[in-house]
Amino acid sequence: MKIIHLTAECYPVAKVGGLGDVVDSLAKTQQQKGEDVQVVLPYYSTPFTSENEFVILYHGQVQLGQFNFPFTVCKERDNSLGFELILISIPDLFDRDAIYGYEDDIERFMSFQKAFLQWINSLDTQPDIIHCHDHHTALVPFMMYNGIEFNKIRDLPTVLTIHNALYQGQFGFDKLHYFPTYDLSKTNLLEWGGRINSIAVGLRSARVITTVSPTYLNEINEHGYGLEHLFREVRYKSKGILNGIDDVLWNPATDPVIAATYNYENFDIGKSINKEKLCEMYNFDVNKPLISFIGRLFEEKGADLLCDFIKKIQQENADKFNILILGTGNKAIEQELMALLIDYQRFYKCFIGFNENLAHQIYAGSDFLLMPSRTESCGLNQMYAYRYGSIPIVRRTGGLKDTVTDSMENGLGICFEKAEVEDIEVAIERAILLFENKIQLHTIRKAGMQLDHSWNKAYQEYLKIYNLITK
Ligand code: ADP
Repeated sequence: MKIIHLTAECYPVAKVGGLGDVVDSLAKTQQQKGEDVQVVLPYYSTPFTSENEFVILYHGQVQLGQFNFPFTVCKERDNSLGFELILISIPDLFDRDAIYGYEDDIERFMSFQKAFLQWINSLDTQPDIIHCHDHHTALVPFMMYNGIEFNKIRDLPTVLTIHNALYQGQFGFDKLHYFPTYDLSKTNLLEWGGRINSIAVGLRSARVITTVSPTYLNEINEHGYGLEHLFREVRYKSKGILNGIDDVLWNPATDPVIAATYNYENFDIGKSINKEKLCEMYNFDVNKPLISFIGRLFEEKGADLLCDFIKKIQQENADKFNILILGTGNKAIEQELMALLIDYQRFYKCFIGFNENLAHQIYAGSDFLLMPSRTESCGLNQMYAYRYGSIPIVRRTGGLKDTVTDSMENGLGICFEKAEVEDIEVAIERAILLFENKIQLHTIRKAGMQLDHSWNKAYQEYLKIYNLITK
């Protein structure tokens, strides 16, 4: 089956969070299992892309209102990613330092999607499936099925995967003229709450909708950030498929960036070497439990709660554990975390920024990984933590609910119900007790390291959906 993934992120070329990891590892798995897979991404000015050689596949122009953007579609020569990488270069729009966060993000991703469609429409052989990811690519099904100029691709099956329903790509009707010419009776497919909402358009237009965990699908049917009615309306064509992880890349037995490699049979020594190294870097006492957080610093992740939690820690408890935070995101939260270093650095340290190697070292060197998320569509960190023998402490929500069970219920993690400081405090106290019970700690770590979070099951589930809509 020829599958095209259309996305704003794909590790290692462009990654901000889980979307990048998921597209990379899903595409790699599909290719390994015999499918013919391409990932199509904007050509950002990242070091990775500029160092490589490319074959030019297509030149075109995207019209966006009064602006005309020339674009080039190119294929990476000799890539070692495990699937074919196609980049769409639109220099004015994507030749910048960051992936997102610009005032013209709507124009940037609208152009990317239109360029993609123009290129696909020009091909002699069409793919079997177009798989779109999140709001940056969610307008593709609508434009493909209704755009008059895309006559050759009108019947192609589309899947839209929602990795994060919080970000919806909304804009006003003053940008309606960005769309290709289409039958005006279809304009009602674009409108949600008086605006054009990319996710809403995608939900209505794509043949199948998936979310990245079953629980998240249930949750957004109830609280879908303003889209719950629509999520319920399209429930008949929706499925929650739990993400897997790349268990080759995330493997403590072979990981080249950690201080010592280890597996589930010899992790006691391996993990302690990694913990020693990490504690040395951050000047922590290695004998205390090390609790870490890795992630985007936003309220959805409970990052603000981390600040409140640190401030509330009593003197007596401050001697019982250490806390390490790696993240970047909301500037106010970043600043507060930096400011807290002044008074609390005896037990707390942070690294503000994005650092892939440090993330691996933290998964390997920590005892526990804290995820106080208000919402979590799937979450990969808890699965990486398990793989590296660190015990997840999670709020029971979304994909965290589907992947972490509590040690008091014969599970392998620590769970709490509310995204509140009081619940975090109780969970941390339990973690401290668990850390002291060396036999239970060892048993839970060992079992956690042996959990199967591979893509095998999700691969089959996606394949079933693809087969259903390509018939
Ligand atoms: P989300 O996609 O909502 O950000 P996920 O749990 O699905 O959350 O995925 C997060 C991914 O991003 C993981 O690979 C995690 O290790 C990585 N990550 C997040 N923040 C950072 C950071 N500051 N430095 C390095 N890696 C990070």
